[in-house]
Amino acid sequence: MTTGDSFSESIVATSPSDESVAISHLPPLIIDLRLPLTYPLHEPPIIISIHFLHSWLPSSLTPLLLRYFHDLWTERKELGEGVLWHIIQGILDGSFLQRVLHLLDSSNIITLTHPFPRALVPLLRSYDTEMKNASFAEMTFFCSICLETRKGAACIRLSCEHIFCKSCLRHGWGMAVKEGNCTQVRCPDTDCASTVQKLESNDPGVTPMLDNSEAREEDVRRVLTEEEVMRWKWLREKRDIDRGTYKFSGLFIALPQSKSHP
Ligand SMILES: [Zn+2]
Ligand SMILES: [Zn+2]
Repeated sequence: MTTGDSFSESIVATSPSDESVAISHLPPLIIDLRLPLTYPLHEPPIIISIHFLHSWLPSSLTPLLLRYFHDLWTERKELGEGVLWHIIQGILDGSFLQRVLHLLDSSNIITLTHPFPRALVPLLRSYDTEMKNASFAEMTFFCSICLETRKGAACIRLSCEHIFCKSCLRHGWGMAVKEGNCTQVRCPDTDCASTVQKLESNDPGVTPMLDNSEAREEDVRRVLTEEEVMRWKWLREKRDIDRGTYKFSGLFIALPQSKSHP
């Protein structure tokens, strides 16, 4: 049996070395169990194994969970009820972290003890992103360009949080790259467009730090072809060099000064 934890609100998981991450989904807790013929009246479910994906919780906590499941069965059998639903529900809503393991505080902060926190944090983050992407794909969104409602799987949420369908972005960004205008490979929303106009007019009230509407490379790659992406990157570098804002990401090489010969 596999159960995945999901929280409606964000939580922060921390470790003793102060690594912290804000997430909405914890990796699954996988429980392998067998139901005896006399379950639920005379025997509890037989738990064969409990596994925490990515070892986000130590296996030393397993006995506490086993005791909790047994107590739950004892309590429920008096009422002639099974216990599986209660076990699953307690895991899905995360209440076992608070009531059984005492790891979750009232501010939704979970404190985890882990031997390699720096290795765990990226795994927690990546699982959370995977789950968020899965739920995004299932939702529907209104595209303000084609004025149609589309499934999330056909849409992209840009870094400014605006959402458009891929085909509209593909058309707009593809044309911009073709015409050599990398500045238009950005969020088409009017709010973001007005920020860009202020930036281009050198409005002293707008600093370049506010320009977060330029498309991120990972989004451009999900919309354009490899050839178009390469051209977009080349156009962007050319523009930055022209503006004097190009940042070299490689090594700095110090050249010796030429010596004057007598
Ligand atoms: Zn659209
Ligand atoms: Zn935007």
